[in-house]
Parts: sequence; C-alpha cells; structure tokens
Amino acid sequence: MFQVDLHLHTTYSDGTLDPATLVGLCASRGLSVIAISDHDSTEGLPEALAAASSYDGLEVIPAIELSTDIPGSEIHILGYYVDYEDRAFQKVLGEFRQDREGRGRRMVEKLNDLGLKISWERVQEISDGGAIGRPHIAQALVEAGYVQYPRDAFDRYIGRDGPAYVGRPKLTPEDAIKLLIGNGALPVMAHPTYSETKSDRGEVRSLKDTVSDLQRGGLIGMEVFYGDYTPDQVSYLYGIAEELDLVPCGGSDYHASGNPGEPEPGTVGPPISTAKRLAEVKQASDSRRARS
Ligand code: AMP
Ligand code: ZN
Ligand code: FE
Ligand code: FE
Repeated sequence: MFQVDLHLHTTYSDGTLDPATLVGLCASRGLSVIAISDHDSTEGLPEALAAASSYDGLEVIPAIELSTDIPGSEIHILGYYVDYEDRAFQKVLGEFRQDREGRGRRMVEKLNDLGLKISWERVQEISDGGAIGRPHIAQALVEAGYVQYPRDAFDRYIGRDGPAYVGRPKLTPEDAIKLLIGNGALPVMAHPTYSETKSDRGEVRSLKDTVSDLQRGGLIGMEVFYGDYTPDQVSYLYGIAEELDLVPCGGSDYHASGNPGEPEPGTVGPPISTAKRLAEVKQASDSRRARS
C-alpha cells in the first residue's frame, strides 16, 4: 500500500462516492496525503477538507482535472493547490460544466438515434448535480441493460472513436496551464500515455517533446505512478520526469466506477517525497507571485 494518492474523483464530477465517504475510505486505507481532483469542479473540496480534519495525519490537497484537446487526442491537466475561492476561475469552470451538459445531451440523442433508449433525465439524476461526464451516460446504459459494465459503453458507443461520441469545445493544454497558473495552482500532466500526441501536420510527436513544450508553458510535473500502468510504463515515464526535472506524480484515478479491476485508492501512487516536492514548489511559486 502507498501513502500518497493524488488523483481521485467524487460525486461532484463522475465519481460515485461523495467526498466524505471517499476521504473516509482513504483514511481507513492508511493514506496520508490525497488529492481530490474532480473534472471541471472544485465543489467537493470544502466537504473533503472538512472530512479530513476528523482524521489524524491525513492531508487533502485541493485539486482539479481539466480536459484539453490536441489534434486527434486529448491531454488532461491536473491542478494542485487550487484556490477554489477564485471567482474568475469559478466562472470559467461553470462554463466548462455548462459545455459538458450540452455535450452530454447530444451524446444521449446520438444513442437514442442508434436505438438505445436512455433518457437525458436519467443521466442527470445519475450525475446528481456533478459535472456531467461520459461515465454518467455509461451508467445509464448499464442500468438499461445495454452493456454489462461502464467500460463496455466506452468500447462500443462513447469512446473517442465510438458512434455516439461528442467532443467538447476546444481548450488547448497551454490555455489550461495558463488558467491554472493564474489561479495559483500547480499544473501537472495526467496519465501521459493516454495522449498520443501529433503535430498540426499529423506527425506523431514524442511524449518527451510534448511534455517539454508544456513545461515551457508552466507544467511542473507529470503522472508516473498511475492507475493500471505496468512497471515498464512507470519506468519509462519516470525517466522522462527525471530528465526534464518534472515532479513525478500519480494516483489511482479512483472513481468507484463499477468497472471490474478498478485500481483502488492507495494501490498505486507516488512516494511521500513527491508530496513534499509539490509543497515546496507551491511555496516557491507563492513567494514569486507575492513579489511580482
Ligand atoms: P469525459 O470527461 O466526459 O470525456 O469522460 C472522461 C472520463 O470517462 C474519464 O475520466 C474516465 O473516468 C472515463 N473513461 C474514459 N475512457 C474510459 C474507458 N475506456 N472505460 C471506462 N471509463 C473511461
Ligand atoms: Zn473521470
Ligand atoms: Fe483524466
Ligand atoms: Fe481523472
């Protein structure tokens, strides 16, 4: 078991555990530093921080995960130590969630056109006020008996190449990084191998080149110890992080999704030194901001 898990989702996005339950689960699993990183929402953070205060020795880092687009793929950017009281930032997040809603509706329409009778109302109920994501639609498809597990819905219908997939309005990783830096949050690239990166001309670019470009824009870390990554993937990514002097982050990306074999909190994560490094980078960045 690991002590640090920097990638977790709650009911405020597409996770199925509320913040207090998730924090309690992490405490019972002996974790000492966790980050709650919902998609496009910080609304679960006050509850998560309050819940953590009743457990000795459990720190919650307030975080967020933003989805961005690159030609033919996407990059997710995590933001650590997010300031959730930043009004301008909240306004942008509200717009992102609004976009998620329109897109969710359109995916349901496409599914209906394919003959899969799920309702937008049910998807909204499942999302329970959280930022709407494809896992909510997947759950509606499970309930209606069209697929056995949520991941089957991705494989057959709503994965990137699926017949009912709808993209989001484009946000570049550079813009997401700027947005996070403006907020005072530390930008970190999530699950780097999920993003096959291509140049504008369609050539595949090496991950190292892509990450290094983003680092010039202010990226300070990348996930290395992630979800179901194999030891080979971890050592490949660790090598890149070391070479570029990026903080090697990671976590389970736990959603309590109902998918078999989902990595649970604390089954994968970075060493405690990563949490210390993140705190140091945050301090240094705060004092630079205070001086400028
Ligand atoms: P969205 O933000 O609506 O594009 O949905 C992305 C989320 O869907 C991710 O954060 C995962 O929780 C989930 N997801 C993406 N791909 C898969 C997959 N192949 N199987 C199961 N869940 C997935
Ligand atoms: Zn998710
Ligand atoms: Fe992600
Ligand atoms: Fe995630």
